[in-house]
Amino acid sequence: MDICVNLEHIIKELPRWVKLVAVSKTKPIEDIEEAYRQGQRVFGENKVQELVEKEAILPKDVEWHFIGHLQTNKVKFIVPFVSMIHAIDSPELLAKVNREAEKVERTVPCLLQFYIAQEESKYGMDLNEIEGLLSSNGYKAMNNIKIVGVMGVATNTDDREQVRGEFRRLRETFDYLKRTYFSDDSGFKEVSMGMSHDYRIAVEEGSTMVRIGSSIFGERDYGTKS
Ligand SMILES: *Cc1c(COP(=O)(O)O)cnc(C)c1O
Repeated sequence: MDICVNLEHIIKELPRWVKLVAVSKTKPIEDIEEAYRQGQRVFGENKVQELVEKEAILPKDVEWHFIGHLQTNKVKFIVPFVSMIHAIDSPELLAKVNREAEKVERTVPCLLQFYIAQEESKYGMDLNEIEGLLSSNGYKAMNNIKIVGVMGVATNTDDREQVRGEFRRLRETFDYLKRTYFSDDSGFKEVSMGMSHDYRIAVEEGSTMVRIGSSIFGERDYGTKS
């Protein structure tokens, strides 16, 4: 697996307005350093402890994105440095991020995870929950988070038309939320969708941010799948 070659191919292929989050979860520091030397600065992780350990070692100009399900009791460990939290899946989590960010005097960019997959196990909110959140007084009083877009994970299936439909729905939901709840200068502009096996479809459907792991760093070995 040649990380540099893989990275170069993917970057060449992506439209310049699509940001690449290199998903380095489970991968060693040396792999991240290799991508870093190639110029990659944005990395995604989905485990708090692993992210904290890597952040301490790697250069400070790395932009760390937290892409997985985040437990409220672990928010405080990443809020001091994280560049973006992709998977806000409840109003309680957003409130917690806001409180912890206030303590360290930061404003943390966040994405709302919208549930698009036809799978039981996936996290996320439906449109009702998101609209409830965005119209709530609690949300309006949160000064230390900034909602900058939406995120979704499509069903893990070979049915490309199903995946396309799910991405389209996420993009349409983003457009609707933007029109309804955000002004043009609000910074609400990101649609985080697309992984190794489906990012081309995601880009065609209006992704602005792809999260790619195995196509850059190789397959992950897990004892148990996560
Ligand atoms: C692991 C992960 C990715 C990257 O998956 P690949 O198939 O390796 O590209 C993207 N998004 C989320 C939320 C992930 O957990």
